[in-house]
Amino acid sequence: VSARLNGLDKPTVWSEFGDIARETGAVSLGQGFPDWKPPDFVVAQGHAALDEGVHQYTRPAGHPPLVEVLSKRYSSHLHRKIDPLKEVAITVGASQALYLTLQALIDPGDEVLLLEPCFDLYYGQIKLAGGVVRPVPLAVDVARATWTIDLDALEKAVETGRPKLLLLNSPHNPTGTAFPLEVMTGIAAIVARHPNLLVISDEVYKYTVYAEAAEHVHFAALPGMFERTVTLSSAGKTFSITGWQAGWCVGPERLIKPIQLLLPFVQFCVSAPIQHALAKALMIADDPYEGHANYYEWLKELFRSKRKLLADGLERAGIRPMVGHGGFFLMGDTSRLLVPQKYLDERTPAAPDGVTRDWALCRWLAYEAGVIAIPTSPFFSPPNKHLAANYVRFAFCKSDDTIREACDRLEALT
Ligand code: PMP
Ligand code: GLN
Repeated sequence: VSARLNGLDKPTVWSEFGDIARETGAVSLGQGFPDWKPPDFVVAQGHAALDEGVHQYTRPAGHPPLVEVLSKRYSSHLHRKIDPLKEVAITVGASQALYLTLQALIDPGDEVLLLEPCFDLYYGQIKLAGGVVRPVPLAVDVARATWTIDLDALEKAVETGRPKLLLLNSPHNPTGTAFPLEVMTGIAAIVARHPNLLVISDEVYKYTVYAEAAEHVHFAALPGMFERTVTLSSAGKTFSITGWQAGWCVGPERLIKPIQLLLPFVQFCVSAPIQHALAKALMIADDPYEGHANYYEWLKELFRSKRKLLADGLERAGIRPMVGHGGFFLMGDTSRLLVPQKYLDERTPAAPDGVTRDWALCRWLAYEAGVIAIPTSPFFSPPNKHLAANYVRFAFCKSDDTIREACDRLEALT
């Protein structure tokens, strides 16, 4: 086995808790995928693409109708004309968008700044690209149950190292924070002061910002940031089609061109019928939907009510909800719960050296309450894993019945 895979030889948190869910039949507030059907207008476009005979390879950097519609949308988001052929690349989900961007931009030994906690996929992909993680923990305000970026700590990390890249994610997995304009502007000022620093902005949850007065900030729309940023996103979260795996990168030609050149060496093209269907669905999504101005407004309201249902239920179970502004998740502060010693003493395939408290707690909840939640230590690098001890991630992209049932079970246990 290649030495590149050293450290990537254990099951991930997703396989361990996915297996427990299957083995126990527990109710899942774990992995972030909706447990309902996608909207009919999206599924209909999937059928139509197959009926229309979109079955052969398409352009490697992206099916022409899809790059066309995405370039129009991003021209409006980023307040500049986006060239559909030179400034967009279609990928297998945002995961592959990230993989290709890192492979295209990182040299062995290059540092990548991560604001922790962050999506665990980042660590493995940075390693595969030969990069080195420079972690900067988010600042947590325990009294207000909120997370923010400590701009001084970030600037210090930029100045004391030689980072090549800063990886941003807003709305944020796992905290649900949508970083506000003043914080994003502060980051842009740091980036502007360091001309060699590039940014990857992972915006897969951008259509699920629903807190009052919160809004999604496209980092690349901030002054001077387009030239420095690759924006990643995908359709999975927006249209409840995580299995379609359609994603993309948008950015300046100098950063997108190497990704476009790399793409056909990874696969000739992303599924053509899926791209075709998505192009059509994106056009229809702007039409009035279920009594709302468009599909995106309906989606926000759906998530707003689910987040409240989960937060209220966790409160009843003695878990303090740390409610963010968007995304699929919220963090629960579990410091009031006493985890049985038996779970704290365990070793598991994914944690062969012994589990951390958050991991033990999630196994306790899975086996004794029948509820899957996700421990947050995988969202931190080794020196910072202790920061995860009290925090567990709960997904609310689940049916109301599932959320209610999970909360009732948690309340009965705790
Ligand atoms: N980024 C973040 C922050 C995520 O939570 C996820 C998980 N779905 C992804 C990227 C990957 O998205 P995709 O399923 O489109 O590959
Ligand atoms: N992004 C999703 C989550 O955080 C899915 C994770 C995954 O498939 N690796 O739950």
